[in-house]
Amino acid sequence: MGRYLVTGGAGYVGCHLVLALMDAGHTVTVYDNLRQGHRAAVPPGATLIAAELADVAALNAVLADGPWDAVFHFAALSLVGESMKRPFHYLMENAALGIRLIEACVAHGVPRFVLSSTAALFGNPEHIPISEDERIDPGSPYGESKLMLERALFWADRIHGLRSACLRYFNAAGADPAGRAGEDHNPETHLIPLVIDAALARRPEIAVFGDDYPTPDGTCIRDYIHVSDLAEAHLRALARLEEGSVTYNLGNGAGHSVKQVIRMVEQVSGRTVPARIVGRRAGDPAILVAASDKLRRETGWAPRYDDLETIVTHAFAWRQAHPRGYDDR
Ligand code: UDP
Repeated sequence: MGRYLVTGGAGYVGCHLVLALMDAGHTVTVYDNLRQGHRAAVPPGATLIAAELADVAALNAVLADGPWDAVFHFAALSLVGESMKRPFHYLMENAALGIRLIEACVAHGVPRFVLSSTAALFGNPEHIPISEDERIDPGSPYGESKLMLERALFWADRIHGLRSACLRYFNAAGADPAGRAGEDHNPETHLIPLVIDAALARRPEIAVFGDDYPTPDGTCIRDYIHVSDLAEAHLRALARLEEGSVTYNLGNGAGHSVKQVIRMVEQVSGRTVPARIVGRRAGDPAILVAASDKLRRETGWAPRYDDLETIVTHAFAWRQAHPRGYDDR
């Protein structure tokens, strides 16, 4: 069984990976500053170190407490819109601190590194579905910051032999099927939890950011991938590192529009969702759908919950059961 360090393991995607690692019998330490993450999202049995990535002493202490089989790096700022307002903040927090983490992993002899990367690397892609060969052209400092980490990992492998997996997430959604974890951002900006809140009358309506896109119903199309399938893909990618470093686009390969998501929430909840069309949100591409065949072919990964109904059902169950999220603020 392995011993793994998960930065950002108290956050949405990170905590679902922690559950997957622990379900597989591994030992897990979470390193998280708990600004966006939640203490209560770290399952019993995992060790939590509440510290900043910028805290060099704390970081070196935990890395020295090895050996680690791999580091999973989730800790990051992740809002495209915010990064357009605070570019240097994003570049410092995500890129600079991430590069420092990679350097420290090399110094401490960590053999493998898994990076939460993003579809935001592709900006406005020319080809849909988006393969790993699509032109890289980040449309935001957020996307740029992840690209910098992918490049740092390229050199860390080439010069120091650190094997890495760069996993470019599309739209993480849903919740742990057993109800142990779910999505809880503050403030919440993501479509599915906001639509669910509108269905539950916890907010008056959902604002639809534009219905004049070149898509069949005019609203943006995204590839919503169940967060537990996303977690499973990390384990598959990790195993594949035996053969060398990898980069994968991580989605289901199917797109759903904002209006389709709203209809699905209405169907699952049995309630009406008040929706209002407002202007476009800056930086939103019309369509982002992953070509996930490379990941499937090379690792044997296949999503277990690839239909939108199941994704929304799990998200709805968690949000209904946890009106105040993890209740730890
Ligand atoms: N969206 C929307 N209203 C909202 C939040 C999101 O219409 O209140 C749309 C957004 O424009 C995008 C899709 O829903 O097309 C998914 O947005 P989200 O922020 O969940 O993820 P992103 O695609 O930005 O990573």
